[in-house]
Order: sequence, then structure tokens, then C-alpha cells
Amino acid sequence: MKTFFRLVALVKPYLWWMALAAFIGFATTGSGIGLLMTSAYIIAKAALQPPMVALQVGIAGVRFFGLARGAFRYAERLISHNITFKILAKLRLWFYDAIEPLAPARLMHFKSGDLLQRVVDDIQSLENIYTRVLGPPLTALLVTALMWFLLGSYSVSAAMIILCFHTLAGIGVPILTMQLSRGISVGIMKHKAEEQVLALDLIQGIGELQLYGNLPAHLAAMQSAETGKLQLQRKNAVIEGLHESLTGLLMNGAVITILWTLIPSISSGATANGIALSVITLAVMASFEPFLPLPSTIKHIEADQHAGERLFEILDAKPETIAPANPIPFPSEHAIQVKRLSFTYPGSTAKALDSLSFSVLPGEHIAIVGPSGAGKSTITALFMRFWNSREGCINIGGHNITLFDPEELRRNIALVSQKTYLFAETIRENLTLAAPGATDDDLKKALTAAGLSHFASKLDEWCGQHGMKLSGGERQRIAIARILLQRAPIMILDEATANLDGITEKEVTETLTAISAGKTLITITHRLKAMEKYHRIFVLEKGKIVEQGVHSELMAGNGLYRRMWELQHMTELG
Ligand code: ADP
Repeated sequence: MKTFFRLVALVKPYLWWMALAAFIGFATTGSGIGLLMTSAYIIAKAALQPPMVALQVGIAGVRFFGLARGAFRYAERLISHNITFKILAKLRLWFYDAIEPLAPARLMHFKSGDLLQRVVDDIQSLENIYTRVLGPPLTALLVTALMWFLLGSYSVSAAMIILCFHTLAGIGVPILTMQLSRGISVGIMKHKAEEQVLALDLIQGIGELQLYGNLPAHLAAMQSAETGKLQLQRKNAVIEGLHESLTGLLMNGAVITILWTLIPSISSGATANGIALSVITLAVMASFEPFLPLPSTIKHIEADQHAGERLFEILDAKPETIAPANPIPFPSEHAIQVKRLSFTYPGSTAKALDSLSFSVLPGEHIAIVGPSGAGKSTITALFMRFWNSREGCINIGGHNITLFDPEELRRNIALVSQKTYLFAETIRENLTLAAPGATDDDLKKALTAAGLSHFASKLDEWCGQHGMKLSGGERQRIAIARILLQRAPIMILDEATANLDGITEKEVTETLTAISAGKTLITITHRLKAMEKYHRIFVLEKGKIVEQGVHSELMAGNGLYRRMWELQHMTELG
């Protein structure tokens, strides 16, 4: 229930609007009751052939309640939909704000399909918190009070009877439905999540699935998730049918019981007359309308609770990086010092970095090389503060990077990694990501400098899903154009050309060399190409620097660097 109250707390700013919508919902049902009561009154009275004037009040009542019912229904829908969309917008923004600082460290354990399900479907299901969970019980309660008041002023026994039947419809049937449908909504959500994960894997990995003949097995797994979901949805439909029938049964039961109780007193002329009896009968029938959605309220509580738990599971995670309360401005002098930096990934026992120390002067170009798994990319992750080290530190301009606002730090370090992600947007939007205020002229200049002058006239061309309409080399060049726009004084190239073919790699490397002139450059690579141009090279193995120097010095030694170089160049020659 704690999760449920946390969810209610989120929609707290709209509670008054919700109360208003519930009250208007009550006025709608009240008008429906009034309409049936006045109609019954006119029909029953007309049967006695009274003068026309005796029916005037009834006729006015029918007109009033008929019009009021439509107007109230419209107002209630308007307000409740307005609240629902406001809540949805608030929940989405709230979730995005909360999830952003968690990436990537806290999100790496989640499958992308599962995350997508949480962001889209779970939040969508929470939109019902007002329309299906909080509103209907309130309306039903108000209608119960109205009927108690209307019937109580006429016959206490009739009021007691309707109260009993309303209690059964408002509490008994929902509890029964809850027992029968326990786990169904959550089960449907789980199957949907499973389907989504499999569907995303299918879309992203269809090539591999076809290649290794796993497509039929993957489709069978999707089919099984779909079958499981359909079975539960069928069960759900049967239970929904049952609760509607039970509410209808209770409504008829209430009518019959009241008739059975009141007819003898009418026959004896003691309390009631026939006209009043017909009025009461129809009022009782109309009063059950707000009880129909109550069983689904219970199901939605269960579904919302589950959706809330899934969302809070992510949101309760403490971000890896928290901005300091009083960040210091990024310095204009950017000498870098890495001091005894160690890092172990959570859940791992081996150190990815082990007491690493090195420094980079402003404008210096260094390379960090080493075999796969040596810890090179971990250095990038620590520089960008995707992760934080608890041992040692990274200083820029003499200040520990934890003292800067992480966003400002990332604005000042331009990163090109192995794989550039392009959004399914236009070239323009993919570039302005790095510089939101950039003019078309800036974008064209950056594209030309990045070797993509032919794209300068195609700023509004769509890049395709994941930039599929561009070649690997072009995608990396877009990343180069981005860092040109970013104008950061420090550049980190993390295996930036590793995925490119030899000729493209050479061309892109030349462009990168040209744009890094005058900037501090850290190149991270396992491929020893054009190493002569670096002022210093650090050789990393198992998280430790095992060698350092310029290319000729390292080649003169008989260490890892030389072995790597010979192996790579022999392979290339062979
Ligand atoms: P490199 O970039 O040199 O190939 P990495 O920095 O990626 O090496 O990895 C260094 C070590 O840390 C490796 O042993 C790797 O398995 C481990 N590692 C990398 N990322 C993670 C992670 N997210 N969780 C756990 N271990 C990781």
C-alpha cells in the first residue's frame, strides 16, 4: 500500500480538481436518477388522467434533468480528461528527470525493452489512477448518500434495503472480483514486458537470429508470451462479465425487495402511494450506474501498484553522480592530473583500474594503449563521471572533477567513442544536440571541417533509425562535427576509429588530428596506428601503467607495446 500512497502523493496537486470531477460525476448520476424519477412520476400520474396542469412540474423536471445530465457528463469528461493528461505529462517529466542522472551506471542491469515498457506502458497505466481508481468510489459513495437521503425521507425500510444492496455492490462484488482476478493484471503486464523485450531483441538482432538459425525459437518465445497474455485477458473478460452480471442482479434484487416490502403498505393505504412506488423503483435502478466500474477499480489498484513498484525500483536508485551543492566553474587552465586512481565495478572482485597515475599538460596529445580489458574505457567513464572512483582522483586545472557541475564538465570534454549514436532525426537535430543555439552557418562549417561538405545542403535529411542511412565513416564524422560545435578544450577519442575500414580510418584520423590541434587530447586505443604523433604514450595492462614514453622509446624496449605493435603489423602484413 506504501507504493499506492506514494503514487497518490504524486497526483496531490490535482486533488481538488479530482474532487470537483468526482462531484460533477455524482451530479451526472444524480441527474440520471432525477430524470428517471420525474419520468416515472409523469407516466404513472398520466395513467390516472389528471388535468394537464398537474403534470407541469414533472415535465419541467424531465427537461431540466435531461439537459443537466448531458451538460454535467460533458463537464465531467472535460475535467477528468484534462486532469488525466496533466497527470500523464507530469509523470513523464518526473520520470525523465529522475532517470537521466541514473544513466548509464544504474541502468545497465535493465534490458532496454523492459525500460521502454516502464517508460511507456507503466506510466500510461498510472494515468488511470484518477479516472479508474480515485474518482469512481467517491462518486459511488455520494450516490449512496443521496439515495439514503431520498428514500429515507419516504420509507426507512426502503432506505435500509438500498443501503444493503449498495454495500454489496460497492464492497462485496469488488472484493469477490479482487479474489477471482488476483494476479491477472500484473500477469498481463509481465507478459507484455516480456513481449516487448523479445520484440526489441528481434528488431535489433534479426540479422544474428537469421544467421544462427535462432529465429524460429525466438518467434516461438514471443508466441508463448502472447498466448500467456491472451489467456489472462480471456480470464479477465470472463470476470468482468461476471461482475457486471452480479451488479445487474443486485440492482434487480434491490428493486424486487423494495417492491415486496412496500406493496403491502400501499395496498393497505398505510404509507405510500402507487406513483411514489414507481418513482422509487426507477430511482433505485438508476442509482446502480456508478457501481459498475468499481470492480475494475480494484484491478487498477493492483496494476497501478505493480507499475508504481517498477517505476520506483528505478527511481529509488541513488544516482552514481550527484552535482555538488556549490559547483566551482570549469577552469580556463586545463592541466590534467590523475592520481592513484583505482576502480572496481560493482559486483566485480578484480580492479578495472589499479592505482593509476599520469598527467597531461594543456595542449598535449597523449595516447593510452593496451589490450582489450586493460581498463582503457573505464578511464573515459571516470573522466565523464559516468562512474566515480572511491580511491584516487582526477584533477583538472588543480581541482578534483567532483567539484564541477557534471554537465559543465561534460560540456568541456568532447568525447568520440567507438560507436556514435544517431537519433532517428534529421542531420540538423543530431548536430544541434551538441550546440542547441548553433546557426545553419555553424552547422555547415562543422560538417565541412568534419569532411562531410556534401551534407551541408542536406541538413533536414532524415538519418534513418540509428543513423542507418549513413555509413560507419559518416556516422563518426557526424560525431566529429558535433565536437567541433561543442568547442570543448579537452578531447577524448575512445576507440573512435576502431569500427572503420582501413581507408576510412586513415581519413577520419587525419580529420581528428587536424581538429585536435591546440587542444588537450587523450586517445584511447588498442590499435597502434600513427603513434609517432603523440607526445607521450601510456601502456595499460590489467588496470596498471606498465610502460610509458614516446613511440620510438617504447619500440626500443622489449615490452608489451612492442609486442602489440609487432603482432598488429605482422597480422596486417600477413
Ligand atoms: P578496455 O576498454 O581496455 O577494453 P574496460 O575498461 O572496458 O577495458 O574494462 C576493464 C575491466 O572492467 C574488464 O575486465 C571488464 O570486463 C570490466 N568491466 C567493464 N565494464 C564493466 C561493467 N559495466 N561491469 C563490470 N565489469 C566491467
